Amino acid sequence: MSTPQSPPAIPPADERPADSRSGAQTTCRRCGTCCQKGGPALHIEDAARVEQGKIPLRSLLTLRTGERVYDNVRAAVTVLDREVIRIKGRGRLPVCRFYDADDRSCRIYAQRPLECRVLTCWDTSAIERIYDHNRLVRKDLLGGVEGLWELIEVHESRCNHVKLAARIAQLKQSTPNRTLETAICESIAYDRQMRMLCVEKSGVDARLLDFLFGRPLIETIGAYGIAVRQAENGIRLRLRT
Ligand code: SF4
Repeated sequence: MSTPQSPPAIPPADERPADSRSGAQTTCRRCGTCCQKGGPALHIEDAARVEQGKIPLRSLLTLRTGERVYDNVRAAVTVLDREVIRIKGRGRLPVCRFYDADDRSCRIYAQRPLECRVLTCWDTSAIERIYDHNRLVRKDLLGGVEGLWELIEVHESRCNHVKLAARIAQLKQSTPNRTLETAICESIAYDRQMRMLCVEKSGVDARLLDFLFGRPLIETIGAYGIAVRQAENGIRLRLRT
């Protein structure tokens, strides 16, 4: 996750400190592994960097409450009990978008988030201490933006991951159930329409959508064991066995 600015070249083994010769790592070797595993989650301490544009909003992704995600630190899929804002990957790759692979460096090093500052891969105790504390959420950044915040709240209530997961679980128990299917399809359609209207009617930069509304439901719903297809006459669902 974190990469120091300009560490010296790695010295030959016999010039390394004793702890290094004995195999215990004490400095960053700029292997880039932590940055390639994914961008960091943001904490309250990072808010000023975001507000000042040093970490641009378009580089952020919101993982919403109830969403199923892979947790790098815990090395397991987990259901989020509260939202997380993190730095996006690059396309479908998890690698942090600020990682420069050619140079093995961080393109925002001076402004890198808290998690990158405290992470040392040879001793993860510091990041484990802060990991779950003071996570930054959208309300911290947008709660005072009249109109936009209300839109996010409406979207959250119509497209909520917790409700969606419960409905899908219920549908799996009682297929076919048109009422439940309709409610799920309506959430997916609302999510899609909201994004479209923001860009086409309100001129919102499309690169901000992943931060404002999280990942599109049509992309994330597969994690609940359901396939979604856009048919001519609307959205169609298929439960996976
Ligand atoms: S912000 Fe910089 S240090 Fe942190 S994960 Fe991304 S590239 Fe690495």
